[in-house]
Amino acid sequence: MAAGAREAQVRRCDVLVCGGGVAGVAAALEASREGARVILLEKTLLPGGLATSGLINVYLPLCDGNGHQVTFGLAEELLRLSMRYGPGDIPDWRAARNGGGNARFRVVFSPAAFVLALDEALQDAGVELWLDTLVCAAIVEKASESGARRVAGIEAETKGGRLRFLAHTVIDATGDADVAHRAGVLCHDEANSLACWALDANVLADAPTTLQTRGGRIGMLRVGGHRAEVGAPAPWHGLEAPEITRFALEGRAQVRRYYREAHAAAGPEARQTHFPIALPVMAQFRTTRRIEGRERMRPGEMECRRETSVGLAPDWRKPGCVWETPWGALLPAGIGNLLVAGRCIAAEGDAWDVMRVIPAAAMTGQVCGLAAALAARGGSSPEDLAVTEIQTRLRAKGFLLHRDEVVR
Ligand SMILES: Cc1cc2nc3c(=O)[nH]c(=O)nc-3n(C[C@H](O)[C@H](O)[C@H](O)COP(=O)(O)OP(=O)(O)OC[C@H]3O[C@@H](n4cnc5c(N)ncnc54)[C@H](O)[C@@H]3O)c2cc1C
Repeated sequence: MAAGAREAQVRRCDVLVCGGGVAGVAAALEASREGARVILLEKTLLPGGLATSGLINVYLPLCDGNGHQVTFGLAEELLRLSMRYGPGDIPDWRAARNGGGNARFRVVFSPAAFVLALDEALQDAGVELWLDTLVCAAIVEKASESGARRVAGIEAETKGGRLRFLAHTVIDATGDADVAHRAGVLCHDEANSLACWALDANVLADAPTTLQTRGGRIGMLRVGGHRAEVGAPAPWHGLEAPEITRFALEGRAQVRRYYREAHAAAGPEARQTHFPIALPVMAQFRTTRRIEGRERMRPGEMECRRETSVGLAPDWRKPGCVWETPWGALLPAGIGNLLVAGRCIAAEGDAWDVMRVIPAAAMTGQVCGLAAALAARGGSSPEDLAVTEIQTRLRAKGFLLHRDEVVR
């Protein structure tokens, strides 16, 4: 191929966001609103990741269960967007004391409605969106003097062929740390239990609530479960195609079994009134890879003050518990110019369980988007930014950064 033709295959931007889940969307919106030229690459046709393609339709809380909101910014904006074209109500959460579930600032939404609103928000913000675009390699450079490694961009497979995307800063929001892993960053993985959430319709007005189905006539059928809930063996890692295939097929086999039994119990006509209407098009792994970061969130550290905190995440499992998110958990160890947002940040055990959910993913996405835009504007690498500058700007956007600020 001639040099000119090769050059035509290169796209450039200030901030390149890989993966259009909740974290990637938040990162792209924030960076673009901060004035950066942003490209967002997504391998499916839908923004939203597990929250839309994966049918995970419970936007866990922004509050601590005691009437205090602790997560702000795009995490709240996206929660409200999830209801713009569909159902969902924010419960009365301000009066709650020690409140769980429906006494918290959370919402159950329609995944399809959320997609429509995310499309609109990305377009309004001027993000250049590439769907059906699979990130498949990291472009890593070595600085000539120090020998330090930095990510300069990625290669992506598209219908039109393989393209190179070069950026001032790259954000890995793939959920699986695909960019970090391919750039040689040390990553850890954990086992999952089987999960398959499917949309279930039961159109008989007087239909009894079906097993594990919530929300009335259209609800979510959930098979499998979190290993802490079901105590089930958790052999699934989600890192190889044959295993991902078995995971998807086993989940769907369990959904089939459910309908076979439900139809057998209710009689032959039940097939006409009670049936599946949507299956996840993304494997529902809670965790695949997470990065080794410059800082790490560890189990039991919910009481810890982190001086580098860039945001608060309420513990969705335990009212009253709030975690501080250290900036270094979004910075992969040993490489420059790369930020990581969403469920693959450096958090383990119950810290990871708190940080992997939708509102925390949106929060870390926004922080990465802001930092990437600042780095691009200042001509620096994000790891060289002063954390105090990021913190000042986040506070100006309404963020709380430390647990002792929550009561004010
Ligand atoms: C069974 C289950 C139940 C859950 N329950 C809840 C719940 O009730 N409430 C809650 O808040 N959270 C829940 N979660 C967690 C939550 O859904 C996710 O962790 C969260 O949505 C993660 O967002 P993310 O943006 O970090 O990652 P993801 O949603 O995984 O998004 C990553 C995006 O990157 C794209 N991508 C990946 N690799 C590439 C690549 N190589 N090239 C291009 N694009 C790529 C994907 O297609 C996807 O769109 C649950 C998760 C599971 C699996």
